Amino acid sequence: MSPNPGLLKLDLAIRGVSLDQSLRNRRDLFHEPSVRGPIARCLELVLPGEVLVSAPADEAFTADSPYRLTQDAKGFYLETDGERSEVGIVAPPSYYRKKTRAGTPMWRVGSSYGPYIAINPASRCAFSARGSHCRFCDVSNQGVDRTEPISVEDVVETVRAAFADGAIEFVYLHIGYIEGDDSGVQFIEPYVRAIKRHFDTLVAVQLQPPREDRWIDHLYAIGVDAVSYSIQIHDEHLLAEMCAGRVEQVGRQRYYDALAHAASIFPNGTVWSDLIIGLEPAESTQSGIDTLVAMGVLPVLSVFRPLSDIDLRDHPMPSIEDVAPVFTHLFKRVLEAGINMNWVRDLSFAVTPFEARFFADSDTPIPSGLGPLYRSKLGNMAVRNLSKLRRRLRVRQVSDSYGSSNL
Ligand code: SF4
Repeated sequence: MSPNPGLLKLDLAIRGVSLDQSLRNRRDLFHEPSVRGPIARCLELVLPGEVLVSAPADEAFTADSPYRLTQDAKGFYLETDGERSEVGIVAPPSYYRKKTRAGTPMWRVGSSYGPYIAINPASRCAFSARGSHCRFCDVSNQGVDRTEPISVEDVVETVRAAFADGAIEFVYLHIGYIEGDDSGVQFIEPYVRAIKRHFDTLVAVQLQPPREDRWIDHLYAIGVDAVSYSIQIHDEHLLAEMCAGRVEQVGRQRYYDALAHAASIFPNGTVWSDLIIGLEPAESTQSGIDTLVAMGVLPVLSVFRPLSDIDLRDHPMPSIEDVAPVFTHLFKRVLEAGINMNWVRDLSFAVTPFEARFFADSDTPIPSGLGPLYRSKLGNMAVRNLSKLRRRLRVRQVSDSYGSSNL
């Protein structure tokens, strides 16, 4: 039993949720337009405490899950050990069913995750083309059938449709590795400029570090609001083993140097780095957190998932006992360093420092601005403050669900 929404999110991300018989064939609830493997069939749930989680829901993956999703005429429920709690389901956005004027299906252009649309406009990652891709990567496989980048027009049309849905608040552009001194800054520039010209929105960008800092300054100058050069794995030997391209083409130290430079010019809390939890010892992830925080960079932890189309598909999932202390450490360190946790806060498939407050120990006071701390059992959790997030994310109404399921 998970004692709070943070633990519940982690446990669901690791163990998934099984579906009641009546929900098994409800494709209208799932976000992944192209089912690439068992674990790719995920549900976006809103847990008590306004915590978003992307929970695997395929039977092959969730056979041993203690969590079960059920539905009655009033709502959706997460049940475990005879207790149940109301949850929301974030409906897949309607733009997934549309095409751009050029005929490109919009689900191929962007994917919605909580409050943002993620777009990778590039063709295949250059690490992947060299056979030195990251071994946990599925992104490198996604562009296999795309020899040309997605056009700026297709991106603008898709972002417009996503905003028209009312479900997103900002745009996240991410690319793998593009060879050259700028590592793709000039490639991504027309997309950033077009989005900034057409929409009053924030743009976050993730790419590999450029050789020279002036390209980081350039990203800031063209209007990028937040940037990430994600190191993913802190341990240098494991990084070399799992991400040969990053080490050989860019160099591990360059990630940290670029992050430090970015943190010196972008606003507090808008430079972040992902660390994957479960691929290296917990102490190593904690050491990575310390390194990032010391340079003013926000660490964001994502739990490793053995997707069926990645090299590490047989790698074991981490246990919640192993990873929970890392989140306690994350919250403590970010709080002590005074890094703003509010910019990057609601991610469905990663745990942000903002959400890591649920793991705070009794020695760490929670600033009032960071919201309530839940320590009660799942069955006793009040479903509070869901209405705001429900409205924003268009959490599925039961009447919609009954309609689409022909019940
Ligand atoms: S940099 Fe690594 S994780 Fe990113 S797309 Fe390339 S291979 Fe995948």
